[in-house]
Amino acid sequence: KESQAEKFQRQHMDPDTSTITASYCNEMMKRRNMTVGQCKPVNTFIHEPLPDVQAVCFQRNVPCKNGQPNCYQSNSKMRITDCRLKKGSKYPKCDYETQQLHKSIIVACEGNPYVPVHFDGSV
Ligand code: ATP
Repeated sequence: KESQAEKFQRQHMDPDTSTITASYCNEMMKRRNMTVGQCKPVNTFIHEPLPDVQAVCFQRNVPCKNGQPNCYQSNSKMRITDCRLKKGSKYPKCDYETQQLHKSIIVACEGNPYVPVHFDGSV
């Protein structure tokens, strides 16, 4: 079974893509199985090396959106792509807007090793 850490990597890690096209989110949301059963409404991909993202668990502790205390904000801005379901898009035709951003990320971390298990947002 997929662990929470593996799920985070499937849903949020894409270190090696350099050129983000307009169809990036449509392709990636499907390829990473986020359009199964329903279209996941919003999702962020991170274009930085995995060790750099794992290191965020040891950076600035901030409150999570759900009030839990296990969220961390990256010291540095990271290259990310936000995928947002377009208005009027209806399953199974999941049509996403692709937006490249350079922002600080916030992740929730759990476990031993203490690794990212949820993407809380970007600031
Ligand atoms: P993501 O939240 O990364 O976009 P998702 O929307 O599919 O993924 P979940 O399947 O809930 O959401 O994955 C997040 C996992 O992280 C859950 O198993 C949840 O229990 C866990 N988690 C740990 N800490 C937190 C937190 N502070 N806030 C939200 N989820 C958390």
